[in-house]
Amino acid sequence: MLKFYDKMSDEQIDTLVFTITDRTWDSIDCTECGRCCMELKPMLSEKDQFRLAKRLEMNIEQLRKQFLEYDDTDIDEPGWRIKDHPCPFLWDKVCTIYEERPENCRQYPYLHKPNFTYRTWGMIEPTFTCPVVYCVIEELKEKLGFRV
Ligand code: SF4
Ligand code: SF4
Repeated sequence: MLKFYDKMSDEQIDTLVFTITDRTWDSIDCTECGRCCMELKPMLSEKDQFRLAKRLEMNIEQLRKQFLEYDDTDIDEPGWRIKDHPCPFLWDKVCTIYEERPENCRQYPYLHKPNFTYRTWGMIEPTFTCPVVYCVIEELKEKLGFRV
């Protein structure tokens, strides 16, 4: 529906998504939720691993052995991810390594990335996990007159 929506450009749709997202964040507190940390296994870049290993006073091999697994199921982007969920760094819905959390966690749920129009499939799955994504998509559907 978005790809053929001619009343707004892709950039205007992005701006609308950003506006709704900012407003939605004001009413949802991640420290009362923590569902993404319970259900997802974030990827860690080399830089993320280095930063986290330093924080935990380990070397990268120890970090990988204790907390990570190598995931090559996505042949385009194989790499290291947290091996367990809930995430071992989650405690009572709060991230205990917040300052050193992986870039993947910082970006989640990716509502501030551009080109929303072309990312709708990727944004449907998080509606089952993240209340922010669910609320943003529901409001977007209402504003754009989406009907099934
Ligand atoms: S590292 Fe922190 S923010 Fe990322 S999944 Fe684990 S608890 Fe959540
Ligand atoms: S699922 Fe969404 S609302 Fe819940 S903690 Fe994660 S980002 Fe925050």
